[in-house]
Amino acid sequence: MAPLSWQAERAAFMNGLGRGQDQDGFIEEQVRTDRLHQLFRQSFSAIFGSYLAAVMLCWLCWDRFDHGVMLVWLVVLALTSLLRVKMFTDWFRCPNSERTPQRWERRYWITLILSAAVWGTGAFALMPTDDRLSQVLVMLFTVGMSVSAVSSYSAYRSMTLVSMGLVLLPCSFWLLAQPSPMQVGVAIAVLVFSSFVVSATRKLSDALEKAFRLTRQMERAHSISTRAAQTDELTGLMNRRAFFEHAHVLYAQCRHQQQPLCALMMDMDHFKAINDTYGHQAGDQVLRQIGGVISTSFRQADVYGRLGGEEFAVLLPNTSLETARAIAEQLVKAVAGLASEPVHGLTASLGLASTQARDLDLHDLMNTADKALYRAKAMGRNQVAVAD
Ligand code: GH3
Ligand code: MG
Ligand code: MG
Repeated sequence: MAPLSWQAERAAFMNGLGRGQDQDGFIEEQVRTDRLHQLFRQSFSAIFGSYLAAVMLCWLCWDRFDHGVMLVWLVVLALTSLLRVKMFTDWFRCPNSERTPQRWERRYWITLILSAAVWGTGAFALMPTDDRLSQVLVMLFTVGMSVSAVSSYSAYRSMTLVSMGLVLLPCSFWLLAQPSPMQVGVAIAVLVFSSFVVSATRKLSDALEKAFRLTRQMERAHSISTRAAQTDELTGLMNRRAFFEHAHVLYAQCRHQQQPLCALMMDMDHFKAINDTYGHQAGDQVLRQIGGVISTSFRQADVYGRLGGEEFAVLLPNTSLETARAIAEQLVKAVAGLASEPVHGLTASLGLASTQARDLDLHDLMNTADKALYRAKAMGRNQVAVAD
């Protein structure tokens, strides 16, 4: 419910405005979280893709590979894949608030390194030393795995690079060390090709990160401007527009729950004279202090704001007229007790109305409170008048 959390939101907003560096850190943390979410979204199918690739390679080279090594490879790969599936199911079950980089990045890294290392060393162990065709086939599959790493882990460039390295390098280095120019040529071609992939990964990851950062910065700018449009600059209370927006919601809520709603209208007494005597800046200082008094005098559930000039309004849900009257009397006393050097003798008049006795819409309720306020003025100011 928007009206109930406004005060807390405003405090956070005011704090945030004053602490640019904290906000930058906050955005960086959000970007990191966005990257993590992207990683999980992108890479689920990679688990099955990599296992399928291993099965296909074994099937293609059934007669050329050692069956014992093949079986061990497929079993260990299945175990690491299951580990990853378990991690993903935990992720999907986990509430959004707990999907943080601190919780998940390390776990993701461990399962990724395990499965990529098993893939790379397994392919290396399977590659027959004397069969060129199966060597080329193995290299083809490791290159395919590397390319798919780009599409799966682009949110984390380091993950793409590490998984590519673990899958590609064991076989490539072995081929590079062979005497045959053809084997060395294949290894060099694979490494050159991989260097292009590495550079493409950097561009892709940078673009992704930039997009996440821009989105978060835009969201922040939007929330700052929305909040600024709702806040009275001088007092920090809701401005007229925000007050009425929240007032409508509160009114509807009270009506729905058949609770009484009281409206308080407050106007400073002889404020023009205060400005004339002490200057406009002293007057502003008084208004700031009044803002402070109001925001500490009411409950989270109440809605209050500065309607303009030296006029304030408060809505008190689920409050009897008697209680509201006592609260208003307290407010009159609090204003009269304000020490705002060099200003002396500050007072305010208040008008009070309630939906308790009469069925009033919000507009009528505020008007009735306003009329009561004028009665308070007419009766000598520095007091509360309750609508009949
Ligand atoms: P009363 O309400 O008791 O009849 O007398 P008043 O002098 O307060 O009457 P009125 O409402 O006509 O005057 C309000 C004054 O409040 C006029 C204006 O100079 C002053 N005022 C309005 N907004 C501000 C503000 O933001 N800062 C300062 N310093 N003064 C303001
Ligand atoms: Mg006044
Ligand atoms: Mg006025």
